[in-house]
Parts: sequence; C-alpha cells; structure tokens
Amino acid sequence: MSTTPLLSVVIPAFNEEANLKELIGRCLATGDRMGKTFEIILVDDGSSDRSAQLITEAAEQNPGKIIGVLLNRNYGQHPAVMAGFAESRGEIVVTLDADLQNPPEEIPKLVKKMEAGFDVVGSIRLSRRDTLFRKMSSLLINKAVQQSTGVLMHDYGCMLRAYRRPIVEALLQCQERTTFIPVLANSFARFTTEIEVHHEKRSQGNSKYSFWKLINLMFDLLTSMTTFPLRLLTLIGATIAVGGFGLGLLILAMRIIYGIEWAAEGVFTLFALLFIFIGAQFIGMGLLGEYIGRIYRDVRARPRYFVQKVVGRAKEQNV
Ligand code: UDP
Ligand code: MG
Repeated sequence: MSTTPLLSVVIPAFNEEANLKELIGRCLATGDRMGKTFEIILVDDGSSDRSAQLITEAAEQNPGKIIGVLLNRNYGQHPAVMAGFAESRGEIVVTLDADLQNPPEEIPKLVKKMEAGFDVVGSIRLSRRDTLFRKMSSLLINKAVQQSTGVLMHDYGCMLRAYRRPIVEALLQCQERTTFIPVLANSFARFTTEIEVHHEKRSQGNSKYSFWKLINLMFDLLTSMTTFPLRLLTLIGATIAVGGFGLGLLILAMRIIYGIEWAAEGVFTLFALLFIFIGAQFIGMGLLGEYIGRIYRDVRARPRYFVQKVVGRAKEQNV
C-alpha cells in the first residue's frame, strides 16, 4: 500500500494463541467500520505457542492491513510495543493488549478524542475485571507515579491508549533499556486526556505477569521516571539526625531538672549520639545518590526537547 495509513494499532502478544483469531477478526471489523486507512501491527514477543504462526498467516491473508513483527525471544510487553512502534507509520498509534480485556471496539472512541487535538489519550477502566491483588498493586503504582512525576493520569495499567506520531517518534528516540510506555509518553506530551473504556475478564489463558514480573515492572516504572528514592536517603538521614539531636537536648534538660539519676548512666546519651551518626551516614549516602541520579539521567541521554515546528525560514535554508 502506498498511502500512509492514518491509524496504526500496535498489539504485543506473548503466548496468546487462544485469543489471536478473535482479536484479529474484531480489530479488522472495527478498522473497516471506521472507514480510515489503518494497519494492525502484531508483535510476537517470543511466544512458545503457535502465536507467531497465527500472526504470520493473518499477515499473509491481509496484506497491508496486518503486519507481523516477530521478535526472536521474549523481551517483555513494553519492549514489544516499542518494536511495534518502530514498524508503525500511522499518524495516530493505538496500543492494545492481545487478551481482549479491552475491547477493540473502543478504538474509534480513542481516535475521535485524538481528532480533538490531544497528543495522548489514556483510558480508565470502567468496572475493572481483575483480581484484587492486581487491583491493589495497580492502585499503589498509580499513586506512586502521580506523586513522583506530577503527570496526572488515573490508570497507568491500562494499555488501550492512543499516541500522536511525534510522541511515538520521541519514544523511539529514548535509548534506555527499561521503559514504561504510558508514563514515558506523558513526559513528552502537552495535551493529554483520558476516556473511560470497558474492561472484561481476560478472554483466554492467564495473565502473563507473575508476582515478580509485576514487582519488576513497578521498579522499572518508578526508576524510569524519578530519582526521588535516592533523595529519600537524605531526607531519612536528616530526620534521624535531627531526632538524635532532639533526644540529646531532652536528656540534657531532664538531667538538669531531675538530677543525675535520670541520665541512666549515659545509656540514653549514647543513643542520642548514635542517632546523630546514623543520620549523618544516611545523609552521606543521599549525597552520593544525588550524583548517581545525575549520572543516571545523563547516561540515559533522553532527548532534552522536541521542536514542533520552525517557522520563518526560507525553504532552501531549511535543508
Ligand atoms: N505481553 C508480552 N510480553 C510479555 C508479557 C505480556 O507481549 O512478556 C503481552 C500480553 O500478550 C498481552 C499484554 O502484554 O497482550 C498484557 O499482558 P497481560 O494481559 O498478561 O497482563 P495483565 O492484563 O495481567 O496486566
Ligand atoms: Mg491482560
């Protein structure tokens, strides 16, 4: 197909053979109904089942409409989505899970919102159908991100999202190894909004996130956005040191008011001193952390900014 599609749908799949057929059918139907040029990019994240084969077959049957990207092994959901982004060409790029928890029928809603001029459209899951444990951990993650990044979105766990082309290009220029796409995207977006979408139980198979994979994801998310935990060391240290100093003063006052017996032969004094030194050590670690945080940011070498447009230059000067 020569025309660039307006819409790309990027779907990562890891051992999703049971869902793929229905997923592809529903996505194609939705795309056709929208009456726009579109492409569906299915990324096989090194599945050990027949997913890769199914994707290949679907791509052969729907040339130009379905594009398969087969990774050589399992890299994780977010790297897989990145691989899909690299292959996508649409002006609007929508990400979706392969497990049909978010119905593909919601895509037109996202696109409509995008046409109102937003850079990123997130989604909030209506009546979320997940286990309590997944809900709790998501709540914790969302709160932590809101606190530390200042980007206000209610539901980072939901991957049914739409991004404008420049945002996708920005994401692709981030060379860091660990990424959490919804949060990273927000750091490059100017106009963001959220819509409510339906959420179903996982159609087939089990969640591909084990407890440890989830913990891992949470740390990826936190450390990819903020070095605040390093600064926390300084804060903890300062609190302990001030506490120790306060205790020292209190002991001194008690000693003066109640006399020598109260001092318990110097045991409390020792505690006060100990706290001050422990606090000082934490502050030292926190200072190291400040430098490490800066090194981390520089090593990651994220682009500092993106120019949207340069105006006022003559055409020939532009090249
Ligand atoms: N996924 C992937 N690679 C992985 C784990 C998951 O591509 O290593 C895909 C998976 O196939 C699905 C999406 O990421 O399309 C979300 O995974 P899942 O539904 O298991 O996560 P949950 O809904 O439990 O958050
Ligand atoms: Mg899921």
